[in-house]
Amino acid sequence: MRDNRKKDELEICCPTCGFKPDSHDRWMCVCMHAWNTFETMGRCPNCRRLWKETQCPVCHKWSPHHKWYRYNLPESDEEEEKEDLYEYEIA
Ligand SMILES: [Zn+2]
Ligand SMILES: [Zn+2]
Repeated sequence: MRDNRKKDELEICCPTCGFKPDSHDRWMCVCMHAWNTFETMGRCPNCRRLWKETQCPVCHKWSPHHKWYRYNLPESDEEEEKEDLYEYEIA
């Protein structure tokens, strides 16, 4: 259950223009292999080269790979969970 929620909170998008790649998008390595770089955290599955920066296919800007990952964590989430648990214990 918790894993599903974490996936919802993780968003992949270009830090420059906000473009959101999907699983059909492909990036090409210098070895000419094309793959989805976000499935391997930027590592080419063919030659094992690690791409620390990823180019956006829309705005063509290079950004550090980790900056493409955004976590949408609600700030008050933990407190709300505690309150729910508290109420449940009383009932
Ligand atoms: Zn972009
Ligand atoms: Zn490669």
